[in-house]
Amino acid sequence: MNAPDLATTGPGLPGSAAAPPRVAALDVGGTVLKGAVFEVGTGADAGVGAAGTGVRQVATLRRPTPRAEGADAIVAAVLDTVAELCALAPDVGAVGLVVPGVVDEAAGIGVESENLFWRDVPFARLAAERAGRPVAFGHDVRAGGRAELAALAGPPPTEALVMLVGTGIAGLLVVGGRVLPGAYVGEIGHAPVGPDEPCACGSTGCLETIASAASIARRYREAGGPVVAGSREVLAAAQAGDSRAGRVWGEAVDALVRGLAIYTTLLAPEVVVLGGGLALAGAALLDPVTAGLAARLTFQPVPELRLGQLGDEAGTIGAALLARDLLLAG
Ligand SMILES: [Zn+2]
Repeated sequence: MNAPDLATTGPGLPGSAAAPPRVAALDVGGTVLKGAVFEVGTGADAGVGAAGTGVRQVATLRRPTPRAEGADAIVAAVLDTVAELCALAPDVGAVGLVVPGVVDEAAGIGVESENLFWRDVPFARLAAERAGRPVAFGHDVRAGGRAELAALAGPPPTEALVMLVGTGIAGLLVVGGRVLPGAYVGEIGHAPVGPDEPCACGSTGCLETIASAASIARRYREAGGPVVAGSREVLAAAQAGDSRAGRVWGEAVDALVRGLAIYTTLLAPEVVVLGGGLALAGAALLDPVTAGLAARLTFQPVPELRLGQLGDEAGTIGAALLARDLLLAG
């Protein structure tokens, strides 16, 4: 066990006013269970933490997702990690848990995940039993998208898309100042905009078969490139002049542009935030997507494209914000 040291964290001084409230957060990913303990900013400290999101990470806990062992083992590992987080920081007042796939947030159920194999798992109830604390349960991308919205400078946009590109692609849709609810809302990664490559969802040509970070690495290998850990290595190869990598990166950008053109034509967002692990590419992603979208749109107003601030921590921070809201409402 390599539990992080909590003894030195937190601004509380001996004899000072009560320490800030804490929450635990867990983002269930395809390869890693990303857990963390956060301090919650309140009052004058409401804007603490990464990019002013209002929660400050004080400890992290990573566990591998036992994907090869199937759904039951994955669910058990999720619950074990929730218990570990609570043992690590016994003063946490609530737990935020976010999972991928189709999620019924109101019922607290993971309806299905094609990537992690489960069906109809009552995560909220199971996690609350293990944690002995209230649990806020949500969808990983919606939670991560909310975190990116909280990190945006300036007033919140009334029409926006937060598109998170990581192992998969999905979005948080803000329409009329409101986040659109619904278990099937935001699955832009399965818009058919690419060549006819098979998708894990059972269809072909989905955006995420071309433009997800995982697909970029896979397609580079299929194009004759070496096996690489992720999209970052493909971008580096493209920038070093590898034409296969350049083609794979360019096709990903083009597919993202097509997906965003459809969204913009339908819903005319003022702002599109590109987040998730792929956004760590920075200008190498933002500039060609911005130029491509401006070139493709004609009469439609071109949205302002911005990079997400939270990278692949967005889901964990989003889970912490859900837990914070539950804690402060209680
Ligand atoms: Zn698909």
